[in-house]
Amino acid sequence: MNLIPAIKEINRQISEECKRHNEKIIELEAALAAIRKLNTTCETCAGKKVVNKPRACAEDERDQIVCPDCHGTGRTEQELKFYEGG
Ligand SMILES: [Zn+2]
Repeated sequence: MNLIPAIKEINRQISEECKRHNEKIIELEAALAAIRKLNTTCETCAGKKVVNKPRACAEDERDQIVCPDCHGTGRTEQELKFYEGG
């Protein structure tokens, strides 16, 4: 049985899908970068200034620690720099 044409066709479709997929990801990453540029709220704690300790129950506030990324400011580094005039 010669299924080479079918194999070739599927391979062609796979590379086409890969290309489309990569283009979509590039598009989404560009959108993400643009949004991140404008965002001033810490992504790690979503502005809550605290994060749950690893493996802690999400509902238990006693197990929250100061956000290690924004150090409890709830802001991104770029906004802090803006306020510090740096
Ligand atoms: Zn934070």
